[in-house]
Amino acid sequence: MYDLPDLNRFVEVRPGLFRCTIIWNINKFVDVPVATFLVRCDSLDQGTNPAHDWLLVDSGAPMQVETLLKAIAGVLTHEKDTLRYICITHAHIDHTGATPALLQKYPECKAVIHVEEKPFICEGKSLRSCSSDTWSYTLFKPFSHEADVRLPEDRTVTLRDGDQWEFDHILQFVETHGHTPGSASYIHIPTRSIMVGDAIMNIAANPWWSKVPCISGPMAISTCHWGNAMKAIDKILTLKDKVDTVFPAHDFNTDGIHIDQICEFRKPSSL
Ligand SMILES: [Zn+2]
Repeated sequence: MYDLPDLNRFVEVRPGLFRCTIIWNINKFVDVPVATFLVRCDSLDQGTNPAHDWLLVDSGAPMQVETLLKAIAGVLTHEKDTLRYICITHAHIDHTGATPALLQKYPECKAVIHVEEKPFICEGKSLRSCSSDTWSYTLFKPFSHEADVRLPEDRTVTLRDGDQWEFDHILQFVETHGHTPGSASYIHIPTRSIMVGDAIMNIAANPWWSKVPCISGPMAISTCHWGNAMKAIDKILTLKDKVDTVFPAHDFNTDGIHIDQICEFRKPSSL
């Protein structure tokens, strides 16, 4: 049913950028692909100084931890290889699941999060406390997933747009809030790719009976502020001078989405 080459293992989708998709069985009827990304921090003099520092963008759902750890171990095979940062797009459980296990396995590793996401990821604040501009979130938030991790503050780096961090020459942090108050995206500068978490999705329009990919915004029932979520997509479109490919976290397409296709998707409302 899922003909994805990166199912349960990392595949290099762009030079130095690897994707692993794991299927998340939300319930008996609905399963959703969840992608995580490994980034190799290549240095300029690769011949004499091979890269051993790695970054991870998102860390999957809690029930996927074992599969993800195995997939990471399949790529970080050199004794010097180490995970330096886990760059989290937002607090939802399908994006943060393996973070505690990875922080334990790699003592030098830290999580990168947006400053507005810190209360949910480090302090136990409920995502259900968010006020919303839609009836659907307001109605369904009692049933929504909470962030399921409590990361120690000293193992996190909090950022806002424009802040510098150790690997910002490779992964640029971009605020794309709306889906959650501190949702973020990451531009992989060397390959002109952006990992957008749930700001844009590319799964079936109706996952109950279809697997045909379909570009959409985030799921309304789990999106705190719909107006801001649409502004986030428009912000991603303004990055066209730096970005060719958009990689959503939930995507049935192996090769990401060309940014022009996102333009087409937003055209009716943005013109
Ligand atoms: Zn998600």
